[in-house]
Amino acid sequence: MAKKTGKKSKLEEKLTRKQELVWDKLSEKDKKVVFEFSKGYKDFLARAKTEREAVTEIIKFAEKNGFKPIEKVKNPRAGTKVYITNRNKNIALIVLGTEPVENGVNIIASHIDAPRLDLKQNPLYEDDETKLALLKTHYYGGIKKYQWVNQPLAVHGFVVKGDGSSVEIVLGEDPNEPAFTVTDLEPHLYRKTQAKRKLPEGVKGEELNVLVGSIPIKDEEAKKKVKLWVLSHLNKKFGIVEEDFTTAELEIVPAGQPRDIGFDTSMVGAYGQDDRICAYASLTAIADIKKPKKTAIALFFDKEEIGSEGNTAVRSRFLETMIGELIELKNPDYRYSVLTKALSKSMALSSDVTGGVNPNYKDVHEMKNAPRIGYGLVITKFTGAGGKYSSNDANAEYIGELRRLFNKNKVPWQTGELGKVDEGGGGTIAKFLAEHNMEVVDCGPALLSLHAPFEIASKADLFATYRGYKVFYSS
Ligand code: MN
Ligand code: MN
Repeated sequence: MAKKTGKKSKLEEKLTRKQELVWDKLSEKDKKVVFEFSKGYKDFLARAKTEREAVTEIIKFAEKNGFKPIEKVKNPRAGTKVYITNRNKNIALIVLGTEPVENGVNIIASHIDAPRLDLKQNPLYEDDETKLALLKTHYYGGIKKYQWVNQPLAVHGFVVKGDGSSVEIVLGEDPNEPAFTVTDLEPHLYRKTQAKRKLPEGVKGEELNVLVGSIPIKDEEAKKKVKLWVLSHLNKKFGIVEEDFTTAELEIVPAGQPRDIGFDTSMVGAYGQDDRICAYASLTAIADIKKPKKTAIALFFDKEEIGSEGNTAVRSRFLETMIGELIELKNPDYRYSVLTKALSKSMALSSDVTGGVNPNYKDVHEMKNAPRIGYGLVITKFTGAGGKYSSNDANAEYIGELRRLFNKNKVPWQTGELGKVDEGGGGTIAKFLAEHNMEVVDCGPALLSLHAPFEIASKADLFATYRGYKVFYSS
């Protein structure tokens, strides 16, 4: 009889696959590095709560690390660092390789938009019976609506005024500033109405109205005095009038800073980690790349959460145009087929998160194939739903290359599937990258409470992701 030592037999060691908790493998010194790395990440999350803010932070970080706008690049050569932005919501960072771009490039593509409440174009109103001022919202992306009530919210965004000038607004983050909130029904009065609803309708879309004021303005003739107080305040503070809302992108997001989670501070809790954890990992990874063989590119897209459509999303022509611009740096008279061939010779990581096993809801997973937080970078061969519909089902040869690369460099990785067969599903930008005929697979960490206003990541996975991306660029 075999002894119950918990160790594998030699034959098992040779033939079976190990799935290991990353923390078990880290020395005290390693843990310090992992914890230190997460500080920069938390700062990034705190400042980059919208796609526009993420682009601003990415440019700041990139310029500090030697990247220049492509227009300012004079003598491009291997190791030259450039960036190309698209409408302040989409950006590419590039480190030119020793090989020409025509040979294909190494791409890591994440998204910097996150589920939230957007203000409608006519948002502000005063409720007649209660004399309260509120803002109408239209949710963006896949949210569970009941999660967005009863918590402090901040407004982040951008307003274009009548004269064409614009103003950026961030309000509700500083504890000295006011915050906002969506009120909920008390349990004393909910039995006959809200308690009868199914959870997805527990709070309805038109009930996600943000409370913003309760003092009437001193103006005898005014009809909606509380609304007017708010407008008058906004006019004094930001110089805007009501019509400016129609030309604004104002996003309501959870207020406050990222936090360490757990007695051991091993996790990060924050809004927007899908997919800014991948954005930060690829940002820090590409900044470390000196002179790669293949040109290294970190792409940061908008609009993933609503289907990747729009001119700042992966489905716009930005990617093609951007690769074209890189080829033009050295080969201004190239033919279109050179560009399409370059894309088809490229390798990409669709750098996005997946849902890790939640100990409270294990039933939705098939445990042999479910990703766990703390077990490293997740390679997800396919996403989609049902019989792998609407999915990029990555090629075994390509995953094989990544497997060899990660094993050789001791990057902890696991495989993952988003829930049991027929449980539900979801998509990423992988299938849109695949339209360019490049090799692509989903590769990013797992989170708990995906798409919630407060998502959980493992610091060990964050660091594993950064390391995995770095060896990918260096390959
Ligand atoms: Mn995502
Ligand atoms: Mn998402």
